[in-house]
Amino acid sequence: MSATRASHDVVVVGAGSVGMPAALALAESGHRVLVPDARRGPGHGSHKAAIGGVRATHADAAKILLGLRSREILSTWRERRGDDLEWVTGGYVFPAWRDQEASTLRALLAAQRAAGLDVRWLDAEALLEVVPDLERRDLVGGTSSASDGHCSPLLAMEAFRAHAVRAGVELRFDEPVTGVEVEAGRFVAAVTPRGRHPARTLVLAAGAWARELAATWGQDLRVRPDAHEAGITEPVAPFLAPLVVDLRPGPGSANVYFFQHQTGQVVFCLTPAPLAWGDDTRETSSFLPLAADRLLAVMPRLASLRVRRTWRGLYPMTPDGSPLVGESREVGGIFVAGGMCGQGFMLGPALGELVDRVLRDAATDDDRRVLEALSPYRTFASDERLK
Ligand SMILES: Cc1cc2nc3c(=O)[nH]c(=O)nc-3n(C[C@H](O)[C@H](O)[C@H](O)COP(=O)(O)OP(=O)(O)OC[C@H]3O[C@@H](n4cnc5c(N)ncnc54)[C@H](O)[C@@H]3O)c2cc1C
Repeated sequence: MSATRASHDVVVVGAGSVGMPAALALAESGHRVLVPDARRGPGHGSHKAAIGGVRATHADAAKILLGLRSREILSTWRERRGDDLEWVTGGYVFPAWRDQEASTLRALLAAQRAAGLDVRWLDAEALLEVVPDLERRDLVGGTSSASDGHCSPLLAMEAFRAHAVRAGVELRFDEPVTGVEVEAGRFVAAVTPRGRHPARTLVLAAGAWARELAATWGQDLRVRPDAHEAGITEPVAPFLAPLVVDLRPGPGSANVYFFQHQTGQVVFCLTPAPLAWGDDTRETSSFLPLAADRLLAVMPRLASLRVRRTWRGLYPMTPDGSPLVGESREVGGIFVAGGMCGQGFMLGPALGELVDRVLRDAATDDDRRVLEALSPYRTFASDERLK
């Protein structure tokens, strides 16, 4: 036991896509929560770079479970809590122009539907009814998931922050956690340049920067940052409902995805190939020409759009493209919730609730399935097919 009486039950490291929803869920179930963040405000890490895609349409059961719950939280937020997150149930479409992608998508369908997703395979003609402007040449068909959608990461963060503060969460910015104090193999306090923060539990939600901190208590957390760029166009009249993902690899990129925001702008992003390892968030001059070529191959009509700006942020990447969730084996009282790769915004709200249930010893059977699949100590033998 620590000599100092703790004024908090839980220290959540990082006010990001995962940490802020976790802090909210923990505080609303009665925990006294402290959230120190190294940066100047909430969501200033990877969160603010996210474009806002929210899907339950994943390839594996654990992410589908989290995705379904996050989608429910975000899509019903306005009616339940009052804040407008600019949620749009526009759906997700994965078109295929080649047999490779068509086979990948079709092979996933049975398991996805069994897991509760309303995903359907549409032939080219039916797909063009959902997205009329897709490139028609060689279009084979594709999957459509009508209940997925998108919303504003910035509005969502502000909503989570406001409700968390109302529920009693203490936020401290410009305050990096530099280490932990451990007694008899258990976490007793988080250490920052401003002092020590005793608590029963530490939740590590430090995103792309988590590995360094975990190393201070001897845990080799398999997460490292890689950089992804995104862009936004001028606003135009509505012409596109779903978020479109083109899974074809091309020179310099592994895929491209985009949607039209409810205020008219088209927001787009691609996965570079090879991945751009490191934490450099300066935009490159190569991204826009690359993205433009890819976007026009999916939808020639986009040629008339003018791009307003681009930005670059970090994915907290893991060896198999799936998150790292679970208790530390090295030190008791530490729970890892990270390695969110390109999906932390869409998985964070559900993960926050899961963290709260685990800390209350109220994990469900589904939670146990998620924890087993996403264990930080797994062998990383598989590869995520819908990254
Ligand atoms: C261009 C781009 C587009 C994306 N689009 C989407 C999308 O459409 N949908 C989606 O779901 N995801 C998307 N993502 C991915 C998403 O942004 C990340 O997966 C997510 O933000 C990670 O959440 P996190 O909470 O783990 O990390 P973060 O949101 O980065 O939060 C971690 C926090 O921890 C803090 N921190 C780190 N170390 C310390 C420390 N030692 N002490 C205190 N604080 C610390 C950081 O300052 C940060 O605030 C996108 C990412 C990029 C780059």
